[in-house]
Amino acid sequence: MAGARLSLMGMSPDVIADPGTDAAATYAVDPALSRSLTARVVCAPRPPRVLTRTPMTGAPLASLPQSTPADVEVAYAAARAAQRFWSRMPMEHRARIFLRFHDLVLARQGQLLDLIQLESGKARVDAFEEVADTAIVSRHYARRAPGYLRARRRQGVLPLLSQAVELRHPKGVVGIVGPWNYPLTMSVTDAIPALLAGNAVVLRPDNQCALTALVAVSLLDEAGLPEGVLQVALGDGPTVGAAVLGNADYVCFTGSTATGRSVAQNAGGRLVGASLELGGKNALYVAHDANLAKAVRGAVRACFSSAGQLCVSTERLYLHQSIADQFLEAFVAATRSVRLSPDLTFDADMGSLGSAAQLERVSAHVEDARAKGVEVLAGGRARPDIGPYFYEPTILTGVTATMACRDDETFGPVVCVYRVASDDEAVLAANDSDFGLNASVWTRDVARGRRIARSIKAGTVSINDGYAAAWGSAGAPMGGMKSSGMSRRHGSEGITKYTEPQNVTAQHLVEFSAPFGLTHQRWAAVFTLALRAMKRLGVR
Ligand code: NAD
Repeated sequence: MAGARLSLMGMSPDVIADPGTDAAATYAVDPALSRSLTARVVCAPRPPRVLTRTPMTGAPLASLPQSTPADVEVAYAAARAAQRFWSRMPMEHRARIFLRFHDLVLARQGQLLDLIQLESGKARVDAFEEVADTAIVSRHYARRAPGYLRARRRQGVLPLLSQAVELRHPKGVVGIVGPWNYPLTMSVTDAIPALLAGNAVVLRPDNQCALTALVAVSLLDEAGLPEGVLQVALGDGPTVGAAVLGNADYVCFTGSTATGRSVAQNAGGRLVGASLELGGKNALYVAHDANLAKAVRGAVRACFSSAGQLCVSTERLYLHQSIADQFLEAFVAATRSVRLSPDLTFDADMGSLGSAAQLERVSAHVEDARAKGVEVLAGGRARPDIGPYFYEPTILTGVTATMACRDDETFGPVVCVYRVASDDEAVLAANDSDFGLNASVWTRDVARGRRIARSIKAGTVSINDGYAAAWGSAGAPMGGMKSSGMSRRHGSEGITKYTEPQNVTAQHLVEFSAPFGLTHQRWAAVFTLALRAMKRLGVR
């Protein structure tokens, strides 16, 4: 694995204040940039501040102003005022803003990649996933939102005489709270369809990824998003995050299952809708006929991208017994050659864990398993020589039900390997989890892969890919079954969830009460005849 030498290649000059030799100075964000970005945060004139640090080195990164619940109320008032005018703007006009945003994200990716890496600790190749994802989601909804939300004629109660139309109205102001692990994706990609549908948004990114989120917001402003439509609050989850969701006309939360449950209870109590994108314990199955070279490369990516701090990353690996030894030999070798580095270049394969808490959680899972007799085939140790929270990509075998890593989400670069005797056994094992977010199947027979995928209770399943194929297919829904969430992002559901459907039906000629002179009984008999006729005529 690569050593800890910090590389300055690829850094945007405006991100780095003082590219000297001292690591602490090297990764500090230019205070002028930080000031101009944080001017967008809704807060009091002299707000309390929080100092963030980059997990790459532990060095200070930025001083962030913090909002209060009262500031959140101010943000909502401004958002509600702006939403009235925004929702009346033609859809085509709104869509053009997001096509410009798409271009800006790609053009300014250097700065975004630096900040994503500095805030989350991930490798640049993983940070690029976020840039690509944001561009894909922007393009998709800018092009498809008019179709997803257009008024639709629906079958009326009486053919021709009852003319029903389904309309889609924005909910109002959507509150979005996201986690720290995908600083760009989790800050803006859920906001894009919400805004396109005519809502205003109050966004509360995690403090740890606030700068990336604020750059994205500044690009949206530059793309032409009108003032007031997108408000940003910063602050801790239980107070400011809760205030953002507690005032929302629709709640969009991404984070752990534990927090998601309390968010859902609050939204339910207020009778507002909620989408919850929560945790996972994702399975990857390598069938006997898989292309093993591809499967090994795919599994390394599926398990260790973003150092495993990715909701859809693989933590359970099921190998058909006929190929298990051959696969494992190559997988262990590939895992041991993963290059760890805090560099802001494309030369590293894996970066750091996101925080001391993450390091503690990952180490605890591995040490608990080790104490109970697990075999560590690769990794299994922290790498303070590279950075304070680096941890080696780790493969465990001999995992038993008493070990926390078997069923609980590790949310780190740790995968548990099991052997199975058949596809059916693999499906049973994959479904033996409270979670149901993502899965992956590797086989040369795609039809067989689809049969296996259909039996797995997970919101997305990629065949011959770990997660990017299904996740990046923005036209199809993405989200969790079971304890992994409620509702979906992407596709039609990813935008219609932000709208109130309305049925407007115009009735012609025939009334729905007994016409003059007809008894109720006679009217019921006539209507019964009409119902029978409609069935015979194939009316839907
Ligand atoms: P977390 O639930 O602890 O926190 C998520 C966010 O919610 C944080 O910004 C936090 O400050 C905030 N928060 C905490 N309490 C809150 C409250 N009462 N009201 C409103 N906001 C509150 O999760 P985490 O550890 O930061 O993130 C990792 C988890 O997120 C993992 O379980 C991961 O699988 C999940 N995740 C899921 C997806 C997905 O799309 N399904 C994507 C990314 C991460």
